[in-house]
Amino acid sequence: MIVGRRQTEKPIRWAMVGGGGTSQIGYVHRSAALRDRTFDLVAGAFDIDPERGRAFGVELGVAPERCHADYRALFAAEAARPDGVQAVSIATPNNTHYAIAKAALESGLHVVCEKPLCFSVAEAEELKRVAADKRKIVGVAYGYAGHQMIEQARAMVAAGELGDIRLVNLAFAHGFHSAAVEETNPATKWRVDPTFAGPSYVLGDLGTHPIYIAETIAPHLKIKRLLCARQSFVKSRAPLEDNAVTLMEYDNGAFGTVWCSAVNAGSMHGQKVRIVGAKASLEWWDERPNQLSFEVQDEPVRILERGMGYLARQATAEDRIGAGHPEGLFEAWANLYGRFAVAMEATDRGDRGRLANLRYPDIDAGVEGVRWVEACVRSAEAGGVWIDYR
Ligand code: NAD
Repeated sequence: MIVGRRQTEKPIRWAMVGGGGTSQIGYVHRSAALRDRTFDLVAGAFDIDPERGRAFGVELGVAPERCHADYRALFAAEAARPDGVQAVSIATPNNTHYAIAKAALESGLHVVCEKPLCFSVAEAEELKRVAADKRKIVGVAYGYAGHQMIEQARAMVAAGELGDIRLVNLAFAHGFHSAAVEETNPATKWRVDPTFAGPSYVLGDLGTHPIYIAETIAPHLKIKRLLCARQSFVKSRAPLEDNAVTLMEYDNGAFGTVWCSAVNAGSMHGQKVRIVGAKASLEWWDERPNQLSFEVQDEPVRILERGMGYLARQATAEDRIGAGHPEGLFEAWANLYGRFAVAMEATDRGDRGRLANLRYPDIDAGVEGVRWVEACVRSAEAGGVWIDYR
């Protein structure tokens, strides 16, 4: 089923904070949000450097008077306009997410925020409270979760095709920071500084992605306790880790492992999700996102392909180009942005029916990511001990 239609009535008037011309992730946000015209980019505070941000906004086609020096000026000016923005995406370093997201919600805006949502569970719960109070949504940029084969894996687990889930084997382990590249790369420099990155590096930067994917595929699994050990192989990164291994016990008796690393020399992305049941396993790898490996004990491996008629309905609901053509990161993110837009429109209309059938990485997913990082750090700091999760 090829879906090329906008899922919302009108484009949502949208701004960005951060994601400037030299940023790593800004382009992906814009590609995703603008792809189906669910959003129109009409304002922003795109850069820590106001002049550079203004010039970049104008280059993108934003009116000069709507390119602001910082998020406070942006929210104040937009609130005063009859055609002011309805939503904002926050693509700045981690230390700013909480203050910007809170200010945006208090200004009556829907929010899409980068991960990790903030530094502590207390902050995340506060954002949840303000969002509920203001009746606005918070979407979290767990972009890989928008790949269609994640929906297929979820449907297969729900249908019992794997049997009882026994093992959850997760990894996001790349090699790009095997050396101290932060000496010359500003986007890595802030990631290894706790002032900007928060209490962790790879746990928050990488681990929160497969953790959310596992929650999506097997939502019935709840972490009971975990143990984390973390290391700084590039010594100057301490106390932040560039490698970490987490063990997790789930309350149904399943066992999980998560390997997060930025020093897995030679690896590209290395994000893999393997779910092992009593009868069969599923494996998904973000470098080949159009395929899902389905491995039944005593049978040949089956590689399921995106876009095919044999997939579950949910796995083809966001198909854009049909089977055989590879979809990728931009489409995965656009799928999530599409769902964010539907959630924003339905929330503003009070359309409970539409919201009931919609799933996207929401404020609860943001809170859970922060809770997982916080627990991992607590375990690692105590010497790598088992700790209760809740
Ligand atoms: P970056 O350092 O490359 O870019 C940060 C951008 O934010 C720059 O344009 C900078 O000028 C701007 N900025 C910084 N402080 C600002 C402020 N106070 N107001 C306005 N603009 C400001 O960082 P990045 O790699 O793009 O990461 C940004 C965020 O995105 C981080 O939270 C990171 O964890 C997240 N991220 C997520 C993914 C993902 O897959 N979801 C991938 C990469 C980065």
